[in-house]
Amino acid sequence: MTTLETRYQDVLQTIQHHAQQANRNPDDITLVAVTKTWPVETILEAYAAGMRHFGENRADELAEKRPYIEATLGPNSGIVWHFIGTLQSRQTNPIADHADIFHALDRLKIAHRLSHRLVENGRAPTRPLPTFLEVNISGEMSKSGVNCVDWENSATQRTEIRKFGETVAALPGLTLHGLMTMAPWEAEPTVIRTVFRRTRLLAEWLAEELGMERPLALSMGMTDDYPLAIAEGATHVRVGRALFGERQTH
Ligand SMILES: *Cc1c(COP(=O)(O)O)cnc(C)c1O
Repeated sequence: MTTLETRYQDVLQTIQHHAQQANRNPDDITLVAVTKTWPVETILEAYAAGMRHFGENRADELAEKRPYIEATLGPNSGIVWHFIGTLQSRQTNPIADHADIFHALDRLKIAHRLSHRLVENGRAPTRPLPTFLEVNISGEMSKSGVNCVDWENSATQRTEIRKFGETVAALPGLTLHGLMTMAPWEAEPTVIRTVFRRTRLLAEWLAEELGMERPLALSMGMTDDYPLAIAEGATHVRVGRALFGERQTH
């Protein structure tokens, strides 16, 4: 087996193990292989190893890689492209054109611009963009996302995230798919786990408030903390280094 194949099997086993520990079905967890900074050759290698969900965090990188991979593997490769990075408003068009799922919606302005483009490019309503709202639960200043640091006690914060969710669900071309969060850097496992748990509880509360038929998905967990995220209900884990090794840049 190649190094990548070995690492992939390790990550799959870890997911399975922690899902079972939590009495969850491993099939309910999507592994998003984060290929940011890696060349298209790496994506092709990952595809050959069996990976189908890829995550990018720069609009220009996604807009370059996706057409290349599609030209190489054909239109029926089964690949799903996840955009996981914070989006600037001038980059909304490439994401509306090239992303299958968006993990990091943090502002209404971005939602409106995406929706506008999704109508313009013909994706709405047949092929909408499932979208996660990014929430800041940990309170770390460096974290983007809607301020939900004290959502359990703050009616203002609850109103804000509820309105945001309502608006996104109603916008043409977007569907409200779930919540995404980032754990604090270098925190104790118990602290990280609490952030994931509070995100899950917020998602449960929000789904109920909005009268949603299905539970909201949860995008949480990266190389250093995805087992904890699975224990707290993650449906999408975004894993880069555990699969591909250390990145050279950003
Ligand atoms: C880079 C990145 C990841 C993957 O991080 P690893 O530590 O390499 O697993 C996950 N989510 C986001 C938003 C990222 O930017």
